[in-house]
Amino acid sequence: MSKRKIAILGSGIAGLSYAYYLKKYQPGIEFTILESSSKSGGVVFSEIKDDCVFEWGPRGVRPKGNGQIVLEMVEDLGLWDDLVFANDQAKKRYLYHDGKLQVLPYSLRSFITSPYLTLFLKAFYKDLSAGKVNEDETIATFVDRHFGEKFRVLFFDSLVSGVWAGDVSKMSVSASFPILKKLESKRGSLLKSLLGKKPEVVDGKSFPKEVTSKALFSFKNGLQTLTDTLREMLVNFIEYDVQIQKIDFSDKVEVFVEGSSICYDELVSTIPAHQLSSYVKKDLSEVLDSISYAPVAVLNLILPKSELEFDGFGFLVPSKEKSVVLGMVANSNTFPSHAKQNKSVNTVMMGGARYSTEDLKSMDLKKEGLSFLNKVFQKKIQVDAEELIFMDKAIPQYELGHLDKVRMIEDLSGKNFKVLGSHMYGVSLIDIIAKSRDLVRKSLD
Ligand SMILES: Cc1cc2nc3c(=O)[nH]c(=O)nc-3n(C[C@H](O)[C@H](O)[C@H](O)COP(=O)(O)OP(=O)(O)OC[C@H]3O[C@@H](n4cnc5c(N)ncnc54)[C@H](O)[C@@H]3O)c2cc1C
Repeated sequence: MSKRKIAILGSGIAGLSYAYYLKKYQPGIEFTILESSSKSGGVVFSEIKDDCVFEWGPRGVRPKGNGQIVLEMVEDLGLWDDLVFANDQAKKRYLYHDGKLQVLPYSLRSFITSPYLTLFLKAFYKDLSAGKVNEDETIATFVDRHFGEKFRVLFFDSLVSGVWAGDVSKMSVSASFPILKKLESKRGSLLKSLLGKKPEVVDGKSFPKEVTSKALFSFKNGLQTLTDTLREMLVNFIEYDVQIQKIDFSDKVEVFVEGSSICYDELVSTIPAHQLSSYVKKDLSEVLDSISYAPVAVLNLILPKSELEFDGFGFLVPSKEKSVVLGMVANSNTFPSHAKQNKSVNTVMMGGARYSTEDLKSMDLKKEGLSFLNKVFQKKIQVDAEELIFMDKAIPQYELGHLDKVRMIEDLSGKNFKVLGSHMYGVSLIDIIAKSRDLVRKSLD
């Protein structure tokens, strides 16, 4: 076993976590991480600006459920004292539509007094008579059947924009929300199925309720602390600035780099689908190319704390508002230590699957983001610092038929070539880390 030689492509969280678990569960195994850029972490990217934390990619991990797999990794890496947990304000989330911010229900009391109460009750009533549909559907079709169109237009549309920058009318419910389809398969109605549902059991260490009841966790200096620590631990295993030309795979895997080739017993790709597609045979390449990515612009802002009277995690904007702004995250409301005492740090997300890269590049996105905030808060907001990053292919879109694509990729890549990363089994850090762990453990069988 220890003679096997493995290559991992990419040192984003998928590649780093796969390597971490290899070291943990198969000590002594020979592996190399091949990274095309000069840094690790991929989309996970935190910067310190004027003593504040700017997150350009992910900004928080849920400690509940499988989030405990990430917490176990954090603990094993000796990072527990660097953790920060979300302020209880993070439980309050808002929608911006029809000219105002409305808080979403976050407790029984806020549910009963919510302006959305009637909409929720009607949606729940509709769900009670919903039937089962075996085949995959778009999120829109699924939600319309269970809860009605109005519910979808406000809540699911915004949720999907917030998590995937995605389009509910294109995305697959089975791939994006497997739990919903699983619940439906039991009793049709999601509410009825929830009644008999046993609490989630995590395959790993369980953490106390004081920890798991928090909305999110991050680190004092942002989430990049996690990828930086993994990178330091794996420093002797990572090769940077590697430009792959081709990959051949049959019994062994042959990776061609700058005129020469190296054979491995196993290859694990964690690079984006559109990158991998240029190295492999046509059949596999076609499936990989069919996975589209949404463009996203991230605008990070430092403001005097008194500028925004806002007490929640952030707000989302349903697409019916026809705004390029997907929402705003009030980072320092959630993690107060991410801003200096008299400042606040906020992120405006823009773009998403409804826009092409060309559309977005033709806009003045800083101006769009700021004037949207002026409109929401009905004042000219004074900004101390602003920076924007545009990501052309930011988030993979699990469109209708995504699970078939995943199965085809698995079949076409064969047993010595595993394809992982955010385009396969979930985009969240939790899903990615949990999948890396499970695949490494499975390879021990
Ligand atoms: C704006 C934004 C906000 C997000 N917010 C959250 C959040 O709050 N919580 C959450 O859980 N998730 C969030 N996500 C999702 C999550 O961050 C990503 O899905 C995840 O980080 C992707 O990790 P990855 O390793 O699959 O890919 P990547 O991070 O893209 O890493 C791929 C790595 O491969 C390298 N690479 C690329 N091409 C090659 C090549 N040809 N050869 C070798 N190496 C190559 C890259 O340089 C990179 O290092 C967010 C994503 C974005 C974009």
